[in-house]
This record gives sequence, C-alpha cells and structure tokens, in this order.
Amino acid sequence: MIQSQSEAQQAKRGRAAATFAARLTLDGVTRVYGEAAALSGVDLTVEAGEIVCLLGPSGGGKTTLLRIIAGIEKPDAGRILINDAEVAGPHAFVPPERRGVGLMFQDFALFPHLSVIDNVAFGLKLLAPADRTRAARAILERVGLSDFSDAFPSTLSGGQQQRVALARAIVPRPAVMLMDEPFSGLDVQLRDTMQEETLGLLRETRATSLIVTHHPEEAMRLGDRIAVMKGGRIVQAGKAEALYREPASLFVARLFSEINEVPIRIVGGAIETPAGRMSAAGAADGPGVIGIRERAITVTRANTGVNKGPAGGLSGRVLDRRFLGDMTRLDVGVEGFDRPLKVRLAKGSDLERGTDVRVTIDPSGILIFGSENIAES
Ligand code: ADP
Ligand code: MG
Repeated sequence: MIQSQSEAQQAKRGRAAATFAARLTLDGVTRVYGEAAALSGVDLTVEAGEIVCLLGPSGGGKTTLLRIIAGIEKPDAGRILINDAEVAGPHAFVPPERRGVGLMFQDFALFPHLSVIDNVAFGLKLLAPADRTRAARAILERVGLSDFSDAFPSTLSGGQQQRVALARAIVPRPAVMLMDEPFSGLDVQLRDTMQEETLGLLRETRATSLIVTHHPEEAMRLGDRIAVMKGGRIVQAGKAEALYREPASLFVARLFSEINEVPIRIVGGAIETPAGRMSAAGAADGPGVIGIRERAITVTRANTGVNKGPAGGLSGRVLDRRFLGDMTRLDVGVEGFDRPLKVRLAKGSDLERGTDVRVTIDPSGILIFGSENIAES
C-alpha cells in the first residue's frame, strides 16, 4: 500500500480522539458595524462531519462570521444552530466556552508566556490537572511535537506554531472546528504538508469544519463543499466541480478558471459570437459577457502553400508565447475578436510568435453571463 508522507507519520503517531460531530446551521446571520453591513443574511448548513471552505476576498465578512459562530461576537439578526439548538439569536446566547466550537485564529494567537504544553492544555480547564496533561501530551504526540512540550512559541518555526495552534483548538474535541486562513502564514512548501496533515486530523476527529481561505485551490483541496463569500453574502455554495462547471456569476467563474472575458449582446435569448450562434437561455437580453476558458481553445498550425485548408475553425496568428513549466500560454489574435485570446496548452508548443494558426473553441468551455450576473463581480 502506498502511503502519503502524512499518513505514514500519522500511523507512527497514533490517532486523535474522535468527537461527536454536529450539524452547523447559519440562518440569516447579519452583522452591521455603524452604517456598513459586514454580513447580510448569511444562510449555510454544514452537515455533521463535513468540511466546508469559506472562500472569498478580504473584507467579505469571513472572520466576522467565524467570530459569531464561536460566540466572540453577537449577530444583529439571524440565528446560529448547533444540531437543532440555537446558540445565538433572538432566543438564546450560549457563551463561547459552552458551544463545543473550536476556533483557530489566523495569526495562531499562541500565548507567548506559556510553554507549548501549557498553551495546548489551556483549553482543558474543566479537566483534572492529570487528565489535562495526559490529553495535551497525546495531541502533541499526534502532531509530532512531543519533543517541544516545554519550548516557548517564539522559539518555534511557523509550521510548528501552526501545529501547536491546531492541537490547542482540537484537544477539547470540539463538535465544530473553525479555522481562519490557517495556512496563510506559511511558506508554499510547508503549506502542502500542513494542509494534508490538517485534513488528516480533521477527518480523524470527524469535527464538522469551516475553513476560511482566499485561495481557490486550497478550498478545492480541503473542502467537501465550498461557500463563496463576497460583500457579506454567500454568492454560491456547492461542490468544487459544480462551481467550476456552472459558476453563477463572472466573479465565481474567475475564481476557478482562467478565462477570456469578451463583451457581447444577448438578443432574444441568444448570442452571436465569432465562433457561431449560441443559446443564452436564462440570461436577460442586453449587454453580457462570455467567459472563454483558456484551456478550451485549441490552436493548430494553419496549412499554408498550395494545399490551403481544410479550413475548420477560425483563422488566427500567434502574437506571443510564454513557457510556464507545466503549460504554455499563447496570446492569439483571432478573426472576429477585438482583443487577443489567451490560450493555455497543457503540453509544450512549437508555435512561435508570428505563426498562422487555426483556432477552435470547445463550446462547453464558453460561459455566458447576462448583466445580472456581472453586476456583483
Ligand atoms: P474578511 O475576514 O473576509 O476579510 P472581515 O470579517 O474581517 O472580512 O470584515 C468584514 C467587514 O467588516 C470589513 O469591511 C471590515 O472592515 C468590517 N469590520 C470587521 N470588524 C469590524 C469592527 N470590529 N468594527 C468595524 N468594522 C469591522
Ligand atoms: Mg479575515
């Protein structure tokens, strides 16, 4: 059996104790600061044991939402339910320490004057001292930090601090685990390993998890589902594949795919593109945008000389070529398009700048957005 590095480490370190996962329901959660709404009626259900990533640009309300779920802040309207019990809302306010919710802060927020083991044991105040120490030692063993029990946070690397913060959040066995951009402080190489380890630990404990990130790839990697958040609202939620295939807006499309954006007019539920007429059913008539996936465009050398043709596709010319390691990116001037199209080729390409080409576009790689789905971009 082939094991990943983290699985092997995990086998060596033993397993973390499982919790009783709980369903988390957000119902119309709203939070207003002064005049501005940080959250406007957020609805979301995270099933017991499910891992959902909250994805969106900064200022979107992600941290505010986690703070409200944890109980550090109160909603101005709406409710938070854990299983079917209201923990925040018009009828109830359960204090943070009694919600069974773990929160891992973006900056880890370790106590600098406490040793690693005391940081981890901090969340276990309700246990007898001997039990606290035993539980803290077990989780430190699990995250590979047994040798650092007595060290102080400032002497640890970024990855080690992240593990301590994770251990501290998870050791009380929260039914719901919240993580605010847990990997943003780590360098790229470390991020991969920590993502795998964290995912392993969350699966093992079966905690219902909400993980905040502003990296789409991280969200796809970690989440069973992704909730895209912008301007205090969830604009779309679903499995990564559904968000990729059927983005509800240009904003979501841009997160998950490299696209060429071309302005068009929708007339009578259809559009005319240089590549032909297409149905735009469901989109309102008027100005719109088509998103052509860079990977959906195929470019082949045009036949030149006496044997011109067969002339499938559109004619074009390579204007630029960039080698990007695993892929090559071309800028191609294409008949009928005002601006060059960007094209991503998985393999290398011998199409030099200036080469005349035929261009075909896979219709399934064309996304159509009416004005109502561009507005919130
Ligand atoms: P994110 O975590 O997605 O970056 P935040 O939840 O931190 O977003 O912030 C959402 C909005 O609420 C931002 O416009 C931010 O300026 C505002 N905000 C957050 N906390 C406060 C606060 N304590 N007082 C006033 N405005 C706040
Ligand atoms: Mg934030």
